[in-house]
Amino acid sequence: MEYTIGIDLGGSHVAAGAVAADGTVTQEVEQDLATLEPALVVDEIDRIVQHVLSLAGEKDCVGIGLGAPGNIDEKSGVINFSPNFNWVDVPLRSMLEKRLKHPLHLLNDARCATLGEYIYGSGKGTAEFALITIGTGIGGGFVSGNRLLLGEAMGAGEVGHHVIRPSDGFYCTCSKRGCFEAQASGTALLRHALAVASSFPRSTLLTRKPQEKWGSKMIRKAVAKGDEHALAAWRNWLDDLAIGVSNIISFTNPAVIALGGGVGQTDPKMLAEPLIVKVDALTTMVPKGITRIVSASLGNNAGVIGAAALARLGGTRQLLKPLNGVPPSPARVKA
Ligand SMILES: [Zn+2]
Repeated sequence: MEYTIGIDLGGSHVAAGAVAADGTVTQEVEQDLATLEPALVVDEIDRIVQHVLSLAGEKDCVGIGLGAPGNIDEKSGVINFSPNFNWVDVPLRSMLEKRLKHPLHLLNDARCATLGEYIYGSGKGTAEFALITIGTGIGGGFVSGNRLLLGEAMGAGEVGHHVIRPSDGFYCTCSKRGCFEAQASGTALLRHALAVASSFPRSTLLTRKPQEKWGSKMIRKAVAKGDEHALAAWRNWLDDLAIGVSNIISFTNPAVIALGGGVGQTDPKMLAEPLIVKVDALTTMVPKGITRIVSASLGNNAGVIGAAALARLGGTRQLLKPLNGVPPSPARVKA
């Protein structure tokens, strides 16, 4: 059966899977990245794509899509700028096409995840959709009038870098102060915990526990257990998340906002439900209660499934047209 390969390139690992027309991931391979040196990242991508091809059968592959972080020039296939990778002007497509014998289509990773969630997941059936991926950073994407918004230079959806606290916020990797990402990502939850730590002198929240990874998950676990220090950080973090989400509602008035990424998978009772109350209080010109705020439904696979859908569509040019459900049986498109 024909399939496309979706590749999701993240800051610490790369995943690739063979994806059928109905969005089912039939074969998936993941690999940690020891380095972000472009030539070595290309080696790893090549290696796992060859692995997927060997598992799924090379002859049935009809295209490859790749979601990568940063701003991408889709005509040249160059990653212009990726602060988290520290990449400037990396010609990723030409580096990879020398190795891969299939058409390769590139799109920002968060836009790929948006495409995946829109066609197959939490955005299915709506024409007005937004995805916010909350992890180490914040990414996003908008669908409006059934079209994935790309913008004039592929920058539409960079919601992580709209500023919500210019005077008292945390500094962002992009060099600005108080970006939504700096205030409301998983990393930001740790910053909020540090910021209120002096009010909880006996707290052990930020002490590294044996066998526990130091990260936002340990704080979310402590919130669930009712830890006072964690709860104070969580409230401040939720306040900032609500500011960004209410802004996003005013940008495109989506019917559904899905919360994706690792943090987006938090129990709705702890995340989506209190968030909706705060967002409603901040929503003014758009009628309150119109936008449903939900957990993204494809989990960690959204990026792989979306990148595969991009390949099935035949590239970003096809995104200029309205999307009507699942892309048809793939044509053997040229990149
Ligand atoms: Zn920023």
